[in-house]
Amino acid sequence: MEGAQRAFLLWRSTDLAARSGLLRRAADLLEERKERFAALMAAEMGKPVAQGRAEVEKCALGCRFYADRAAEFLAPESIQTEASKSYVAFQPLGVLLAVMPWNFPLWQVFRFAAPALMAGNAALLKHASSVSGCALAIGEIFRDAGFPDGLFGVLLLRAGAVERVLERPEVRAVTLTGSAEAGRAIAAAAGRLLKKSVLELGGSDPYVVLEDAPLTPTVETCVASRLTNSGQSCIAAKRFIVVEKVRREFQDRFVSRMRGVRMGDPMDESVDLGPLARRDLRDALHRQVVESVRKGANIALGGEIPAGRGAFYPPTVLIDVAPGMPAYHEETFGPVAAIIAARDEADAIRIANDSPFGLGAAVFTRDTERGERIAAGSLDAGSCFVNAQVRSDPRLPFGGIKDSGYGRELGPFGIREFVNVKTVWVR
Ligand code: NAP
Repeated sequence: MEGAQRAFLLWRSTDLAARSGLLRRAADLLEERKERFAALMAAEMGKPVAQGRAEVEKCALGCRFYADRAAEFLAPESIQTEASKSYVAFQPLGVLLAVMPWNFPLWQVFRFAAPALMAGNAALLKHASSVSGCALAIGEIFRDAGFPDGLFGVLLLRAGAVERVLERPEVRAVTLTGSAEAGRAIAAAAGRLLKKSVLELGGSDPYVVLEDAPLTPTVETCVASRLTNSGQSCIAAKRFIVVEKVRREFQDRFVSRMRGVRMGDPMDESVDLGPLARRDLRDALHRQVVESVRKGANIALGGEIPAGRGAFYPPTVLIDVAPGMPAYHEETFGPVAAIIAARDEADAIRIANDSPFGLGAAVFTRDTERGERIAAGSLDAGSCFVNAQVRSDPRLPFGGIKDSGYGRELGPFGIREFVNVKTVWVR
């Protein structure tokens, strides 16, 4: 801890150009080690290698984005008052604690670390226990790129030990990406200690399909989104809310497309769907399916645990999903799609918002003005897309409302989460 604080004091007075140079070097190292990272993710949490490579590239992109733009995002903002000079300066907070999940073992860490370090903070990473190899390899990137010793520390800890780290006076803030339960625990501890927190939690993103949606690209996008990261993404589409007029056709095409997905060894280049990260998570997903069926849903595809080794779960489509079922209200973290019928646009919006979560949402229609009106004005979520898959992008803010958390990562908003917004007044 002393090392992190020492590194912070040195780093806060290191100029932005020097910080950018090191972050660019980190991006280069990520690319050089791409194959190693992809294999590590496949081994630790089952991500198909092609998707692992893409994740590494996205991390390099995120580092370069903040290396290029941090000076602009952190530039003081002048505000006219009766002072001879008054402005807002953005200064680092100190040592930040980052508690991260296993599902995007690299991207979750870099999308926090690139802006946080560029803003002049130090970071301590407590990664998910199942991806300790990734945690250590990320630590090596920062070390080998030449960041000061201790500026980015890796703590191999169990969840139960996190609160003790947060209690340390050097730690000024915490960010957690993970489940709502973990978020509640960390937010309670941060509240008790009066420390800033940012929470990026789960989601049950609705994709609203209106009667005028172009079905071929819509189905493609819906399937791709549901299967992102073998279904284990906070912003994977989970509920497909389809206006009754096109529901049958959408359903048939969706099922047929899901049936064609290749599931298998994540080291096989042609595989679309790997195993789930852990057997207990696979079993919990299956329980949500079984319970939804017990409450009246029907299975149009999948829904059975395959024989053999590995935590595999097949592409599954639940139809006739309705309130009261786990697939309607809960996050399904795997390749399980819930299709929900809506009478019309208003009913579809009502169902989309009838969720404890509010992370992402999408709407599909040939009328982009109509789509924009719904996305901007009616859907309750942190990111609303029209005719496209909800994605995180270094240029755009990312985060949720309701049980999906609070605060934002990425874009100009992300770099300002962990700064002191300081008013300076000169007579
Ligand atoms: P998780 O079980 O909540 O774990 C996330 C991290 O929190 C891990 O490092 C875990 O450590 C730690 N943790 C768990 N309980 C804790 C506690 N009581 N106190 C302190 N730390 C605690 O979540 P997960 O299963 O790894 O990840 C899946 C969840 O993350 C999903 O709900 C997903 O939607 C969400 N997610 C959200 C976003 C977003 O940006 N909104 C992005 C990705 C994932 P251990 O591993 O040691 O238990």
